[in-house]
Formats: sequence, structure tokens, C-alpha cells
Amino acid sequence: MDFEPWWLIFVPVLFALGWLAARFDFRQMLRETRTLPDSYFKGLNFLLNEQPDRAIDAFVEVAKLDPETTELHFALGSLFRRRGEMERAIRVHQSLLSRSDLPEAEREHAQHELAHDFLKAGMLDRAESAFEQLKDTRYALPALRSLIRIYESEHDWPRAIEAVKTLQGLVDEPVPQIVHYYCEQAQMALAAKPFDADAAHTALDAADHAAKQAGQGESASKAAKVRTAMLRARLAQLEGDLKRERMYLESILADAPEFAGQVAEQLLANYRNAGQAAEGLDVLQKQYARYASLDLFNVVFRELRVQQGAAPAWAFARGALRHHPSLLGLDRLLEAELSSTDGSQQDQEQGPVRGADLSLLRSLIHKHTQRLDRYACRTCGFQARRYYWQCPGCNGWETYAPRRLEELE
Ligand SMILES: [Zn+2]
Repeated sequence: MDFEPWWLIFVPVLFALGWLAARFDFRQMLRETRTLPDSYFKGLNFLLNEQPDRAIDAFVEVAKLDPETTELHFALGSLFRRRGEMERAIRVHQSLLSRSDLPEAEREHAQHELAHDFLKAGMLDRAESAFEQLKDTRYALPALRSLIRIYESEHDWPRAIEAVKTLQGLVDEPVPQIVHYYCEQAQMALAAKPFDADAAHTALDAADHAAKQAGQGESASKAAKVRTAMLRARLAQLEGDLKRERMYLESILADAPEFAGQVAEQLLANYRNAGQAAEGLDVLQKQYARYASLDLFNVVFRELRVQQGAAPAWAFARGALRHHPSLLGLDRLLEAELSSTDGSQQDQEQGPVRGADLSLLRSLIHKHTQRLDRYACRTCGFQARRYYWQCPGCNGWETYAPRRLEELE
């Protein structure tokens, strides 16, 4: 028989068939399909047709017939949780937990997932008890971390501190926010009526100790140190110890000048109470020359007006604005100027028009500065008029710079 060139076409066809046979074992595939219960396909069908509740029922049925399908449940549960369908996620995980034949490892896994469902659904007390049940399992560490977050959001500082201590007994893991937990405790003691000096001292000593421990590896957080010093100053003030109060406040000016604006008012009051208002103003002016900030500018400008009158205050403001052009600074300046001429007789040398001009100018500027006159979280961008140690938006600690938005741009 002669060789025909068209025979060559069989060669690639045979190769292709061999390749297919190597990849598909059709008999195996058919066998697997037959072992899957009907409920599985029913469930899949419901899921694809956007009928998740009926799908859950069908899959629970599958689980009863075939205990090997726990992975399917976990996948389904996390899918629902990701989509924010918390009731369904909880139902899936609870149905898993209710199975008596569930192996211990799977039971722990389901319990952990369920705790996260509760947490995401905002059911904090149920999440708390679910995480607590994981204490002696392989999920002990992540459960403890979640518990710390829960106690923190409940402002239950003693339990948060306990949990951090337990965590650090298990692993060598830095938890820098523990300094703030102690500070929060001290703050509560100071806010109590009457204030609890002993509790405040104890909490602040613990805060210093924790900061020292945290700072062994790298430099301890500056903001936490500032906060401790601020609370110590407040405690000294309540105890009537002006000297100690001043020492703490001035330590902040020296070590963390960016926070000077936060304590300027209190420092000034401290000097005033000691009958040394002029010295206090001098300290703040020198501080401003060393490290300018808008919050400090406000305090110095206002105090200059009170102590020395309009001309020196304006001279200071003009110099400050020339060095650090700022709309907010100008806004504050005009506000002070307007409030001082309001109701009083019009300044003869300036004429009656000037007041109107000023107030027009101010309303123009003020419209723009409102946006800038805020502190902003570096992590989530949450903006607030007052300074926060913990962001109310993302619950991060020390995420606010002690500077107004305008100064950050
Ligand atoms: Zn934030």
C-alpha cells in the first residue's frame, strides 16, 4: 500500500485524543456525580437563582446525608458574612455546631466563625461569650485579639488590660495601645466627682511602666508619652500642686512641641493662677518662635490682646502670617477684631466703613476655612473639630496629627 499524504492528518488527531484521555477519567467523573446527593444540586440551583434561604436548607440536608461536606458549609458561611448577610451566616454556622457527629477540630472552627458573625453583626455580648469558649483551643490567640477589640469598644478598660496581659503571657507580641488603656482609666478617675487621686496615680504609673516596656525594642510612642504627661499635669492641678503641673506641661513643650497647642491654654492658666500671666505669655511666644502652630497662634494672639492691647497683638499676627501664610490664622484674626469692635463705638480714625469691610472679608474667608479647621485621621480620613487619641471612625490609636488640616496640606 502506498503512502498517502492525507494520512498525515491522523497524527495530530491521535495525539489530541491521547491528551484528552490522560486528563479525563470519565468513569471516575460519573461515579462522583452519582455519589453527590440530589440536595446538593438543589442547593446549588437555589443559590444560583438567588434563593439563599432555600439553598441553606438544601445544604443542611446534604450535610446530614454526607458528613464530609463541612467545607461547603464554611465556604457558604463566609460568603454570606462577606456579603453582610449576617443572619444567614449565623444560621449556617449554628447548623454545623448542632451536628453531634462533628469532629472536635471542625467544631472549634465553626465556633470561631460564629463568633466572628456575631462580632460583625454588632452582637457584642454574644460575640464575647463565643470567643471566650475558644480559650483552650487552637483559636485561643485570634480569639483573645478579638476579645481585646470588643472590650476596647465597650470601654471596659480593666478587662481589656487583663486580656492584653493574658495575650502577652502566651506570645511575645507588642500591644502599644495598652498605654492608652491605662490613660483612659486615669482619665475616668480624674473625671469622677470627687476625683479619685489614688486610682489616677496607680493608672498613670502603670501607663509609664507599660510605655517603658513597649519602648524597649524601638522608641516608645511619643503621643502616648504626651498623653501621660497631660494627665499627670491635670492630676497635679486637681491636687493644687501648681509647680508640678507646670513641670509636666513644660516637659511637653520641650519634648513634643507639636502638641504645644493642646496644652497652651492650661499652661497659661497655671501661670495666671500663680500671678505670673506675663511670664506665661512670654513662654508661649518663645515656644511659637521655636515651633509655630495654628493652635498656639490662637492662644498667643488672644492673650496678647488681653494683656497688651490691640497693637502688639496685630504686630504679632502680621509677623506670624507673613512667615506662615494661613487662611485660618487670618480668619481668627478677623474674628477677634470684629468681636472687639462689635457693640463698641466705631473707631474714629478707621472710619465707619472698615467694620463692614472686615466682616465681609471674614465671611468670605470663613466659608473656606471651615473645611480646614479640623483634625483628620491619617488612616481613615475621619475629620473632627477636637483632637482624639482614638479615632471615632476606625478606632485606630494615635492616628490624628496634632495639627489642623490646613497645616498638613
Ligand atoms: Zn480613623
